[in-house]
Amino acid sequence: MKTLIIGGGVVGLSLAYGLTKRNEDVVVVCGSDEDYNASRGNFGLIWSQGKGLGCPEYSQWTQKSISLWPSFAEELAKLTGIDVELSLDGGMEYFTNKHEMEDFIESLHKVKKSNSDSQTYKYLNHEQLKLCVPEIGPKVLGATFMPGDGHVNPLQLLTALREGVRLGGAKIFNGSRVKRVYRSGDLYNAQLDDNKELSASRVIIAAGLGSADLAPMMGFKGTVVPQQGQLLITEKLPQFLKYPSGTIRQVNDGGIQIGGSTLDRGLDNKECIKTVSELASHAVDVFPCLEEVNLLRSWACLRVMTEDGFPIYQESKTNPGAFFITCHSGITLAAIHSVLLTEWIVGSERSPDLSMFSEERFNV
Ligand SMILES: Cc1cc2nc3c(=O)[nH]c(=O)nc-3n(C[C@H](O)[C@H](O)[C@H](O)COP(=O)(O)OP(=O)(O)OC[C@H]3O[C@@H](n4cnc5c(N)ncnc54)[C@H](O)[C@@H]3O)c2cc1C
Repeated sequence: MKTLIIGGGVVGLSLAYGLTKRNEDVVVVCGSDEDYNASRGNFGLIWSQGKGLGCPEYSQWTQKSISLWPSFAEELAKLTGIDVELSLDGGMEYFTNKHEMEDFIESLHKVKKSNSDSQTYKYLNHEQLKLCVPEIGPKVLGATFMPGDGHVNPLQLLTALREGVRLGGAKIFNGSRVKRVYRSGDLYNAQLDDNKELSASRVIIAAGLGSADLAPMMGFKGTVVPQQGQLLITEKLPQFLKYPSGTIRQVNDGGIQIGGSTLDRGLDNKECIKTVSELASHAVDVFPCLEEVNLLRSWACLRVMTEDGFPIYQESKTNPGAFFITCHSGITLAAIHSVLLTEWIVGSERSPDLSMFSEERFNV
Protein backbone atom coordinates (compact mmCIF):
# COMPACT_ATOMS: atom_id res chain seq x y z
CA MET A 1 0.00 0.00 0.00
CA LYS A 2 1.30 3.45 -0.85
CA THR A 3 1.65 5.89 2.08
CA LEU A 4 1.95 9.64 1.77
CA ILE A 5 3.56 11.29 4.78
CA ILE A 6 3.14 15.03 5.16
CA GLY A 7 5.97 16.42 7.29
CA GLY A 8 9.72 15.84 7.20
CA GLY A 9 10.49 16.42 10.88
CA VAL A 10 11.55 13.66 13.23
CA VAL A 11 7.97 12.40 13.64
CA GLY A 12 7.22 12.05 9.92
CA LEU A 13 10.67 10.63 9.18
CA SER A 14 10.57 8.09 12.04
CA LEU A 15 7.34 6.74 10.60
CA ALA A 16 8.69 6.84 7.06
CA TYR A 17 11.75 4.93 8.25
CA GLY A 18 9.63 2.28 9.98
CA LEU A 19 7.40 1.88 6.93
CA THR A 20 10.28 1.56 4.44
CA LYS A 21 11.77 -1.13 6.67
CA ARG A 22 8.53 -3.02 6.13
CA ASN A 23 9.01 -2.56 2.37
CA GLU A 24 6.05 -0.22 2.14
CA ASP A 25 5.87 2.25 -0.72
CA VAL A 26 6.42 5.66 0.91
CA VAL A 27 6.34 9.27 -0.28
CA VAL A 28 7.36 12.07 2.11
CA VAL A 29 6.56 15.74 1.53
CA CYS A 30 9.04 17.52 3.78
CA GLY A 31 7.77 21.12 3.77
CA SER A 32 9.95 24.19 3.45
CA ASP A 33 12.75 25.83 5.45
CA GLU A 34 10.34 28.64 6.38
CA ASP A 35 8.12 26.20 8.34
CA TYR A 36 8.44 25.86 12.10
CA ASN A 37 10.88 22.99 12.57
CA ALA A 38 11.05 21.71 16.15
CA SER A 39 13.27 18.86 15.00
CA ARG A 40 16.02 21.29 14.04
CA GLY A 41 16.09 23.38 17.22
CA ASN A 42 15.52 21.03 20.16
CA PHE A 43 17.55 19.96 23.18
CA GLY A 44 18.20 16.34 22.14
CA LEU A 45 17.25 14.59 25.37
CA ILE A 46 16.02 11.02 25.52
CA TRP A 47 14.07 11.50 28.66
CA SER A 48 11.59 9.81 30.95
CA GLN A 49 12.22 11.80 34.10
CA GLY A 50 9.07 13.71 35.07
CA LYS A 51 7.00 12.38 32.18
CA GLY A 52 3.66 10.62 32.47
CA LEU A 53 2.05 12.32 35.45
CA GLY A 54 -1.68 11.63 34.99
CA CYS A 55 -1.06 9.18 32.16
CA PRO A 56 0.76 5.96 33.12
CA GLU A 57 0.48 4.75 29.52
CA TYR A 58 2.63 7.69 28.44
CA SER A 59 5.21 6.83 31.05
CA GLN A 60 5.26 3.21 29.79
CA TRP A 61 5.40 4.30 26.15
CA THR A 62 8.35 6.60 26.90
CA GLN A 63 10.24 3.92 28.83
CA LYS A 64 9.63 1.41 26.07
CA SER A 65 10.98 3.85 23.51
CA ILE A 66 14.12 4.42 25.57
CA SER A 67 14.64 0.67 25.76
CA LEU A 68 14.44 0.47 21.95
CA TRP A 69 16.89 3.34 21.41
CA PRO A 70 20.21 1.37 21.50
CA SER A 71 19.14 -1.02 18.72
CA PHE A 72 17.50 1.83 16.77
CA ALA A 73 20.71 3.92 16.86
CA GLU A 74 22.85 0.93 15.96
CA GLU A 75 20.63 0.00 13.04
CA LEU A 76 20.66 3.59 11.73
CA ALA A 77 24.46 3.68 11.97
CA LYS A 78 24.80 0.37 10.12
CA LEU A 79 22.45 1.44 7.37
CA THR A 80 23.54 5.05 6.89
CA GLY A 81 27.04 5.28 8.41
CA ILE A 82 25.77 8.15 10.60
CA ASP A 83 26.45 8.06 14.32
CA VAL A 84 23.63 9.78 16.22
CA GLU A 85 25.87 10.06 19.31
CA LEU A 86 23.52 8.23 21.66
CA SER A 87 24.40 8.18 25.35
CA LEU A 88 22.05 6.68 27.96
CA ASP A 89 24.11 6.91 31.14
CA GLY A 90 21.30 8.50 33.14
CA GLY A 91 19.92 12.03 33.53
CA MET A 92 20.00 14.55 36.37
CA GLU A 93 17.63 17.35 37.34
CA TYR A 94 19.45 19.94 39.45
CA PHE A 95 17.57 22.10 41.95
CA THR A 96 18.37 25.46 43.50
CA ASN A 97 14.83 26.01 44.78
CA LYS A 98 13.46 23.89 47.64
CA HIS A 99 9.76 24.07 46.65
CA GLU A 100 10.46 23.20 43.03
CA MET A 101 12.55 20.26 44.17
CA GLU A 102 9.88 18.96 46.55
CA ASP A 103 7.12 19.31 43.93
CA PHE A 104 9.23 17.53 41.35
CA ILE A 105 10.10 14.65 43.69
CA GLU A 106 6.41 14.27 44.51
CA SER A 107 5.56 14.07 40.82
CA LEU A 108 8.28 11.44 40.23
CA HIS A 109 6.89 9.48 43.15
CA LYS A 110 3.37 9.61 41.70
CA VAL A 111 4.57 8.52 38.25
CA LYS A 112 6.47 5.60 39.80
CA LYS A 113 3.39 4.60 41.80
CA SER A 114 1.19 4.64 38.70
CA ASN A 115 3.70 2.72 36.58
CA SER A 116 5.65 0.24 38.66
CA ASP A 117 7.68 -0.78 35.58
CA SER A 118 9.16 2.69 35.29
CA GLN A 119 12.78 3.24 36.23
CA THR A 120 13.34 4.09 39.88
CA TYR A 121 14.63 7.60 40.37
CA LYS A 122 17.17 8.49 43.04
CA TYR A 123 17.37 11.64 45.08
CA LEU A 124 20.85 12.94 45.84
CA ASN A 125 21.42 15.68 48.39
CA HIS A 126 24.16 18.25 47.83
CA GLU A 127 26.90 16.16 49.46
CA GLN A 128 25.94 12.93 47.67
CA LEU A 129 25.71 14.79 44.37
CA LYS A 130 29.09 16.46 44.84
CA LEU A 131 30.70 13.01 44.94
CA CYS A 132 29.51 12.14 41.43
CA VAL A 133 29.35 15.66 39.92
CA PRO A 134 32.13 17.60 41.71
CA GLU A 135 31.60 20.72 39.54
CA ILE A 136 28.21 21.63 41.09
CA GLY A 137 28.01 24.96 42.89
CA PRO A 138 26.99 25.72 46.50
CA LYS A 139 23.49 26.88 45.45
CA VAL A 140 22.54 23.39 44.25
CA LEU A 141 20.39 21.78 46.95
CA GLY A 142 20.29 18.39 45.34
CA ALA A 143 19.32 16.50 42.22
CA THR A 144 17.12 13.69 41.06
CA PHE A 145 18.76 11.03 38.93
CA MET A 146 16.99 8.74 36.47
CA PRO A 147 19.03 5.77 35.25
CA GLY A 148 18.69 5.05 31.54
CA ASP A 149 17.84 8.60 30.46
CA GLY A 150 20.29 10.35 28.16
CA HIS A 151 20.75 12.32 24.99
CA VAL A 152 21.53 12.20 21.32
CA ASN A 153 22.62 14.59 18.58
CA PRO A 154 19.20 15.61 17.20
CA LEU A 155 20.53 16.99 13.92
CA GLN A 156 22.49 13.81 13.25
CA LEU A 157 19.31 11.89 14.03
CA LEU A 158 17.37 13.89 11.47
CA THR A 159 20.08 13.39 8.84
CA ALA A 160 20.33 9.66 9.58
CA LEU A 161 16.56 9.19 9.37
CA ARG A 162 16.36 11.07 6.11
CA GLU A 163 19.20 9.00 4.66
CA GLY A 164 17.65 5.78 5.98
CA VAL A 165 14.33 6.68 4.39
CA ARG A 166 16.04 7.48 1.08
CA LEU A 167 18.00 4.22 1.14
CA GLY A 168 14.75 2.42 1.95
CA GLY A 169 13.41 3.56 -1.41
CA ALA A 170 11.04 6.32 -0.35
CA LYS A 171 10.44 9.28 -2.59
CA ILE A 172 11.22 12.53 -0.76
CA PHE A 173 9.92 15.94 -1.82
CA ASN A 174 12.19 18.57 -0.26
CA GLY A 175 11.12 22.22 -0.18
CA SER A 176 7.52 21.30 -1.08
CA ARG A 177 4.49 22.11 1.00
CA VAL A 178 1.04 20.58 0.89
CA LYS A 179 -1.64 23.24 0.61
CA ARG A 180 -4.64 20.93 0.44
CA VAL A 181 -5.37 17.31 1.24
CA TYR A 182 -8.61 15.65 0.14
CA ARG A 183 -10.14 12.28 -0.56
CA SER A 184 -11.45 10.96 -3.83
CA GLY A 185 -12.86 7.45 -3.56
CA ASP A 186 -10.24 5.22 -1.94
CA LEU A 187 -7.39 7.61 -2.58
CA TYR A 188 -6.01 10.54 -0.61
CA ASN A 189 -4.65 13.40 -2.66
CA ALA A 190 -2.26 16.13 -1.64
CA GLN A 191 -2.01 19.28 -3.66
CA LEU A 192 1.44 20.86 -3.42
CA ASP A 193 2.29 24.55 -3.60
CA ASP A 194 3.19 24.20 -7.29
CA ASN A 195 -0.20 22.50 -7.87
CA LYS A 196 1.43 19.10 -8.45
CA GLU A 197 -0.81 16.34 -7.03
CA LEU A 198 0.28 13.23 -5.14
CA SER A 199 -2.05 10.31 -4.37
CA ALA A 200 -1.88 7.37 -1.98
CA SER A 201 -4.18 4.91 -0.25
CA ARG A 202 -2.90 6.02 3.15
CA VAL A 203 -2.03 9.53 4.31
CA ILE A 204 -0.24 10.48 7.53
CA ILE A 205 -0.41 14.09 8.65
CA ALA A 206 2.71 14.63 10.77
CA ALA A 207 3.48 18.23 9.93
CA GLY A 208 4.17 19.57 13.43
CA LEU A 209 2.55 22.99 13.86
CA GLY A 210 1.63 22.83 10.16
CA SER A 211 -0.87 20.09 11.05
CA ALA A 212 -3.21 22.73 12.48
CA ASP A 213 -4.17 23.68 8.90
CA LEU A 214 -3.99 20.23 7.30
CA ALA A 215 -5.53 17.86 9.87
CA PRO A 216 -9.01 19.50 9.86
CA MET A 217 -9.15 18.87 6.08
CA MET A 218 -9.34 15.15 6.94
CA GLY A 219 -11.86 15.64 9.75
CA PHE A 220 -9.42 15.80 12.69
CA LYS A 221 -9.57 18.57 15.27
CA GLY A 222 -5.85 19.05 14.68
CA THR A 223 -5.24 21.14 17.78
CA VAL A 224 -1.51 21.73 18.20
CA VAL A 225 -0.23 24.44 20.50
CA PRO A 226 3.10 26.24 20.09
CA GLN A 227 5.29 26.63 23.16
CA GLN A 228 8.52 28.52 22.80
CA GLY A 229 11.83 27.24 24.14
CA GLN A 230 15.16 29.06 23.99
CA LEU A 231 18.59 27.48 23.86
CA LEU A 232 22.19 28.62 24.19
CA ILE A 233 25.46 26.97 23.22
CA THR A 234 28.87 27.82 24.62
CA GLU A 235 32.33 27.50 23.16
CA LYS A 236 33.88 24.02 23.26
CA LEU A 237 35.17 22.84 26.63
CA PRO A 238 37.00 19.68 27.69
CA GLN A 239 34.44 16.95 28.45
CA PHE A 240 33.38 17.15 32.10
CA LEU A 241 29.62 16.60 32.17
CA LYS A 242 28.74 12.93 32.10
CA TYR A 243 25.04 13.33 32.84
CA PRO A 244 22.74 15.60 30.85
CA SER A 245 19.98 17.45 32.69
CA GLY A 246 16.74 19.01 31.48
CA THR A 247 18.54 22.36 31.30
CA ILE A 248 22.26 21.70 30.77
CA ARG A 249 24.10 19.12 28.71
CA GLN A 250 27.50 18.83 27.10
CA VAL A 251 27.40 17.95 23.44
CA ASN A 252 29.91 15.64 21.81
CA ASP A 253 32.20 18.35 20.49
CA GLY A 254 32.44 19.93 23.96
CA GLY A 255 29.96 22.87 23.84
CA ILE A 256 27.58 23.26 26.77
CA GLN A 257 23.98 23.48 25.63
CA ILE A 258 21.64 25.33 27.97
CA GLY A 259 17.86 25.39 27.69
CA GLY A 260 14.63 24.52 29.40
CA SER A 261 12.58 27.71 29.05
CA THR A 262 8.86 27.27 28.38
CA LEU A 263 7.11 30.39 27.14
CA ASP A 264 3.66 31.02 25.77
CA ARG A 265 4.39 33.44 22.93
CA GLY A 266 2.14 32.16 20.19
CA LEU A 267 4.08 31.71 16.99
CA ASP A 268 6.90 34.07 17.95
CA ASN A 269 10.14 32.11 17.52
CA LYS A 270 12.68 34.78 18.36
CA GLU A 271 14.88 34.63 21.42
CA CYS A 272 15.01 37.51 23.92
CA ILE A 273 17.79 38.77 26.16
CA LYS A 274 15.77 38.36 29.37
CA THR A 275 15.27 34.63 28.88
CA VAL A 276 18.81 34.09 27.58
CA SER A 277 20.12 35.80 30.71
CA GLU A 278 17.85 33.75 33.05
CA LEU A 279 18.96 30.50 31.42
CA ALA A 280 22.63 31.46 31.62
CA SER A 281 22.27 32.57 35.23
CA HIS A 282 20.68 29.23 36.25
CA ALA A 283 23.47 27.34 34.45
CA VAL A 284 26.11 29.34 36.35
CA ASP A 285 24.30 28.67 39.66
CA VAL A 286 24.50 24.95 38.93
CA PHE A 287 28.01 25.01 37.44
CA PRO A 288 29.94 28.11 38.56
CA CYS A 289 32.80 27.04 36.24
CA LEU A 290 30.63 28.27 33.33
CA GLU A 291 30.73 31.91 34.47
CA GLU A 292 33.66 32.97 32.28
CA VAL A 293 32.77 30.72 29.34
CA ASN A 294 31.84 32.39 26.03
CA LEU A 295 28.37 31.95 24.60
CA LEU A 296 28.51 31.25 20.89
CA ARG A 297 24.89 31.29 19.85
CA SER A 298 21.33 31.40 21.09
CA TRP A 299 18.12 30.51 19.34
CA ALA A 300 14.45 29.96 19.99
CA CYS A 301 12.25 27.20 18.63
CA LEU A 302 8.59 26.26 19.00
CA ARG A 303 7.55 23.03 20.65
CA VAL A 304 4.58 21.20 19.13
CA MET A 305 2.30 20.62 22.12
CA THR A 306 -1.07 18.98 22.43
CA GLU A 307 -3.65 20.34 24.88
CA ASP A 308 -2.62 17.87 27.62
CA GLY A 309 1.01 17.34 26.58
CA PHE A 310 0.50 13.68 25.58
CA PRO A 311 0.77 12.36 22.01
CA ILE A 312 -2.12 12.17 19.57
CA TYR A 313 -2.25 9.02 17.46
CA GLN A 314 -5.53 9.03 15.59
CA GLU A 315 -6.92 7.32 12.55
CA SER A 316 -9.89 9.14 11.07
CA LYS A 317 -13.26 7.46 11.65
CA THR A 318 -14.72 8.97 8.49
CA ASN A 319 -11.61 8.66 6.32
CA PRO A 320 -10.04 5.28 7.12
CA GLY A 321 -6.39 5.26 6.13
CA ALA A 322 -5.95 8.92 7.11
CA PHE A 323 -3.86 9.45 10.27
CA PHE A 324 -3.00 12.45 12.42
CA ILE A 325 0.18 11.94 14.43
CA THR A 326 1.76 14.48 16.75
CA CYS A 327 3.64 14.60 20.02
CA HIS A 328 6.00 16.55 22.13
CA SER A 329 9.24 14.59 22.80
CA GLY A 330 9.58 13.33 19.24
CA ILE A 331 13.29 12.67 19.84
CA THR A 332 12.65 10.41 22.83
CA LEU A 333 9.82 8.67 20.97
CA ALA A 334 11.60 8.31 17.61
CA ALA A 335 12.60 4.71 18.37
CA ILE A 336 9.12 3.51 19.29
CA HIS A 337 7.53 5.50 16.47
CA SER A 338 9.68 3.66 13.96
CA VAL A 339 8.68 0.28 15.39
CA LEU A 340 5.42 0.03 17.35
CA LEU A 341 3.65 3.10 16.02
CA THR A 342 4.38 1.84 12.53
CA GLU A 343 2.90 -1.55 13.47
CA TRP A 344 -0.24 0.26 14.65
CA ILE A 345 -0.50 2.26 11.43
CA VAL A 346 -0.30 -0.81 9.22
CA GLY A 347 -2.63 -2.70 11.59
CA SER A 348 -0.27 -5.63 12.10
CA GLU A 349 -0.72 -8.38 14.68
CA ARG A 350 1.86 -6.69 16.90
CA SER A 351 -0.10 -3.46 16.87
CA PRO A 352 -0.27 -1.92 20.38
CA ASP A 353 -3.46 -0.56 21.91
CA LEU A 354 -3.10 3.20 21.54
CA SER A 355 -6.70 4.15 22.21
CA MET A 356 -5.69 6.33 25.18
CA PHE A 357 -3.79 8.56 22.76
CA SER A 358 -6.81 9.13 20.55
CA GLU A 359 -7.85 12.68 19.80
CA GLU A 360 -11.28 11.75 21.12
CA ARG A 361 -10.10 12.21 24.70
CA PHE A 362 -10.60 15.94 24.13
CA ASN A 363 -14.32 15.44 23.40
CA VAL A 364 -15.23 15.18 27.07
C1 LIG B 1 13.20 24.06 22.45
C2 LIG B 1 12.80 22.62 22.27
C3 LIG B 1 13.41 21.63 23.01
C4 LIG B 1 13.03 20.30 22.84
N1 LIG B 1 13.70 19.34 23.52
C5 LIG B 1 13.38 18.04 23.32
C6 LIG B 1 14.12 17.03 23.95
O1 LIG B 1 15.08 17.29 24.66
N2 LIG B 1 13.73 15.74 23.75
C7 LIG B 1 12.66 15.40 22.98
O2 LIG B 1 12.33 14.23 22.88
N3 LIG B 1 11.97 16.35 22.33
C8 LIG B 1 12.31 17.65 22.48
N4 LIG B 1 11.63 18.61 21.83
C9 LIG B 1 10.49 18.23 21.03
C10 LIG B 1 10.86 17.69 19.66
O3 LIG B 1 11.80 18.54 19.06
C11 LIG B 1 9.58 17.59 18.85
O4 LIG B 1 8.69 16.70 19.50
C12 LIG B 1 9.79 17.09 17.46
O5 LIG B 1 10.84 17.74 16.83
C13 LIG B 1 8.50 17.29 16.68
O6 LIG B 1 8.72 16.80 15.39
P1 LIG B 1 7.62 16.98 14.27
O7 LIG B 1 8.10 16.21 13.11
O8 LIG B 1 6.27 16.69 14.81
O9 LIG B 1 7.59 18.55 13.98
P2 LIG B 1 8.64 19.47 13.22
O10 LIG B 1 10.03 19.12 13.56
O11 LIG B 1 8.21 20.88 13.50
O12 LIG B 1 8.44 19.13 11.72
C14 LIG B 1 7.27 19.47 11.02
C15 LIG B 1 7.54 19.17 9.58
O13 LIG B 1 6.35 19.38 8.84
C16 LIG B 1 6.64 20.19 7.72
N5 LIG B 1 5.42 20.89 7.31
C17 LIG B 1 4.72 21.82 7.97
N6 LIG B 1 3.66 22.22 7.26
C18 LIG B 1 3.70 21.50 6.09
C19 LIG B 1 2.89 21.45 4.94
N7 LIG B 1 1.81 22.23 4.80
N8 LIG B 1 3.25 20.59 3.94
C20 LIG B 1 4.33 19.80 4.05
N9 LIG B 1 5.12 19.80 5.14
C21 LIG B 1 4.82 20.64 6.14
C22 LIG B 1 7.75 21.10 8.20
O14 LIG B 1 8.46 21.67 7.12
C23 LIG B 1 8.60 20.09 8.97
O15 LIG B 1 9.39 19.32 8.09
C24 LIG B 1 11.99 19.96 21.94
C25 LIG B 1 11.41 20.96 21.18
C26 LIG B 1 11.82 22.27 21.33
C27 LIG B 1 11.20 23.31 20.46
